Amino acid sequence: MANKSSVDFHYIEQKWQKKWQNKKVFEPKVDENKEKYFIIFAYPGISGYLHVGHMRGYSITDVVARYHRMLGKNVFFPVGTHASGNIAISFANKIKNRDEKWINYLVDNGCPKDIVSNLTTPEKIIEFFNKEYVDSWKAYGFSSSWSAFTCTSFDDYHKFIEWQFKKFMDLGLLIQKPYFTTTCINCGPVAVDLSETDISKGGNAEVVEYFTIKFKLENNVLPAATLRPETLFGVVNMWINPEINYVRASVGSEIYIISKQAAEKLKYQEESVEIIEQVSGKELIGKYCENPLTKNKVIILPALFVDPNVGTGVVMSVPAHAPYDYIALKDIQNNNNLLDKFNLPKEEIKNIKQISLIKTQEFGEFPAEEICKKIGIDTQNEIEKLEQATTEIYLKEFSKGVLKEICGKYAGLKISEVKENLGADLLNQNLAGKIRDLSEEVICRCGGKVVIKKIPDQWFIKYSDKSITEKAKKQVDNMQIIPESFKKNFPRILTWFEDRACTRLNNWIGTKLPFDKKWIIEPIADSTIYPAYYIVSQYFNNKKISVDDLTEEFFDYVFLGKGKPKNEIWKEIHREFDYWYPLNMNIAGKEHKTVHFPVFLKSHIAIFPEKYWPVGIGANGWVTGKGKFKLSKSKGGAEPIKDIAKKYSVDGMRLYYLNTAELFSDIEWDQDIIIKYKKKLESIINLINELSIKKDEEEMINELSIKKDEEKEAIDKWILSKLNASCKVVESEFNKFNIKKASDEIFFNIHNLIKWYLSRGGKDKQTLEKVSNIWLRLMAPFTPHICEELWEQIGNKDFISLASYPQFDKSLEDKHTEASEENIINLHETLRELILLVEKGSRKKAKKIHLYLAPEWKYELFKDASSGKQIGELLRAQKYAEHKFEIENMASKLRAIPGVLLSRNKEFAVLEDAKMFFEKEFGVIFEIQKETTFDPQNTAKFSLPGKPAVFVEVE
Ligand SMILES: [Zn+2]
Repeated sequence: MANKSSVDFHYIEQKWQKKWQNKKVFEPKVDENKEKYFIIFAYPGISGYLHVGHMRGYSITDVVARYHRMLGKNVFFPVGTHASGNIAISFANKIKNRDEKWINYLVDNGCPKDIVSNLTTPEKIIEFFNKEYVDSWKAYGFSSSWSAFTCTSFDDYHKFIEWQFKKFMDLGLLIQKPYFTTTCINCGPVAVDLSETDISKGGNAEVVEYFTIKFKLENNVLPAATLRPETLFGVVNMWINPEINYVRASVGSEIYIISKQAAEKLKYQEESVEIIEQVSGKELIGKYCENPLTKNKVIILPALFVDPNVGTGVVMSVPAHAPYDYIALKDIQNNNNLLDKFNLPKEEIKNIKQISLIKTQEFGEFPAEEICKKIGIDTQNEIEKLEQATTEIYLKEFSKGVLKEICGKYAGLKISEVKENLGADLLNQNLAGKIRDLSEEVICRCGGKVVIKKIPDQWFIKYSDKSITEKAKKQVDNMQIIPESFKKNFPRILTWFEDRACTRLNNWIGTKLPFDKKWIIEPIADSTIYPAYYIVSQYFNNKKISVDDLTEEFFDYVFLGKGKPKNEIWKEIHREFDYWYPLNMNIAGKEHKTVHFPVFLKSHIAIFPEKYWPVGIGANGWVTGKGKFKLSKSKGGAEPIKDIAKKYSVDGMRLYYLNTAELFSDIEWDQDIIIKYKKKLESIINLINELSIKKDEEEMINELSIKKDEEKEAIDKWILSKLNASCKVVESEFNKFNIKKASDEIFFNIHNLIKWYLSRGGKDKQTLEKVSNIWLRLMAPFTPHICEELWEQIGNKDFISLASYPQFDKSLEDKHTEASEENIINLHETLRELILLVEKGSRKKAKKIHLYLAPEWKYELFKDASSGKQIGELLRAQKYAEHKFEIENMASKLRAIPGVLLSRNKEFAVLEDAKMFFEKEFGVIFEIQKETTFDPQNTAKFSLPGKPAVFVEVE
């Protein structure tokens, strides 16, 4: 490793990972005398290989775990995986069907071909990736307690989830109610989200819920679909597309006239839907239907913008507030051909008047007309502008609009309150129903269409429970929540978090609902209180308990202290649980702020006594491709993570994750930056090596004359004091979870301090030893492999991972030494700039540098000012009478006096001491003028205490 040109990172990583593994360094034992720290990252779903994005949050978790371990705490950092859902099933099916794309994916990531062809069942897929994930975590040097590993598809885990759901049931938190879910017509329920895990198209789609207002048309219902039921008061006509086919369909006991597509959708959403016969759109035009609320009769008019795929294919016209309706009505009123074609009553239609029903500050009587004129919309074809106009009106009316007198008992209601009042009334009185739509087409991975389907007896966890929500919001005050902005938002998320559908039908991987085995518990619901199970899984993995032992009585006793222990093992596990719980920190990607974290907290609160409620959560940002793109082969970052670790070194990768940005910000994958981190580590390794070589040289020269502390050079005192100060900074940043700032201090600031120490001729053996020792321990949580190696190299026999973390020691603080060296550092910087400037300006080489010490009275003045005397007072003082003018000019300097002031004699001594250093640095002779003897350009007057004036004499 002494070889300067290259460091064999991979060799060092493997060496230490093996040693940690063999000595079981990270498997903690319960010790009631030792403070505990229990930390996890949210276990990943098995969805293929882990990528560089995953490893960021995990690396953060590991650094925090290592930090607390070095603080002397007992740290428990277990890991597991999540296999519930259908991913492993569809993965296995693809391999079974010899799907090239997926086979290549496995091979490209390093899976041998004979193993690939064997991965044809979900169980084999899960087993394969479980090993793969654990290997990856080990390869990144994580200090996890491997013996607690568990996976949601394991039999013992199922027992745990069964218990959890029994508890929910006992607490009255499991309820059944109708539910509308996205469902593939072939495979059953699928998740529609941006991950597009279950689907091949339509991840952006949202569920749109329309009211269907039941207008009467003879004995039939003509249900107009709308998102704005309040506009029912402003309907002046109905729109039907004359070019599409409608159907008469029985829906329950009613007969609907709707588009054929709408009838097909309703089949999944209503009890009994039968298509009776076709009706052409054309034959409906000119008929009258009755508004169910106002009982007004309105005429049905033709409109081509009506889409049979959206809603019911029936649209009510509210021209006062809807730009589409306004433009369409204007069109038809001015189009005699069209009126003739459909044989419509001209006078009547030309006389249709808008009905205004919402009052806002922004708009007058007729907002749609107003905005169409403003934007310049003339025809129905200007879709983009019409959409813009519609959104603008809706947003303004929704946030500030109030219903007008015309709305009867709803007058005065805010639009934002309408759905709960008017909407609910319409539904209760059967004047309206609902139809649910997807905002865009969604296709399942199997190729089937995804629709919205009603499940009449869906199971829910009642997360809306008021008492649990209140307790959860209160618990937030007791929690460390990272980042701070998330802590502020979290109570609101908890308030709005609704009951969650927790089971699915069909063939999924997961735990069967214990009361009704046709249901499988869904993936988010079986990962809420699982940190508790890591304590049990250790015993299961060590074969101290079996699946049959995992009864309701067992979990009741172990987790809740209820009932009697059956044997000593029960007692031991309960004691262990009581020791480790609550969980101190749970770190997960920021996408979990509204998904995992609320159910994690609420489920704990529902089931466990208060002393076991979680006390910390952290949300980390993502790693994106360069330019915020998704990670990909072309943009980088999609390589197998083990290859990446080999290429950039594990410690380099870890430092990249931890130092590029604070953990809640996204970072971009950038190969150039990562290479810089690797180089940084190489230079640190070389510097530590240099320190030990110096130390050895010093030892040979000075074998008989090892200096005592009080004889140490100022520069030795300085570096030790500065390192001590750095410990304080690191501790404070760690406590605030500012991992980036902590690592800035350690890897950059301290690095610079040591370089300065060496350039100032620092070489004391003991100091060098201390510096390496402290610096390595500070770095160890971040870059554990190289630190173990160097730690061993400087003569330690134990693991640095188990050494103590350097702490700030007030007694070592030496502000005086720090201040005098600070003066030298500043002067060095000033000289560097000034010499350059003078040489450039005069085109001559510098010959001699004159430093002028400030006169004694300025030292006295600074002392007076720092003791709190005001400038006015100083100006009036007799002793400064002859310097009045100068003091006035120094006013700004006097307001910013450094904390530590050196005496004039001390400062002179420090400068004399640094003279040789400066002469060597700049290759020029220095003269320090205590009393001014040579001052050709009248420079000396600019001198200040701590800041001598400088004159550069040229050849
Ligand atoms: Zn499907």
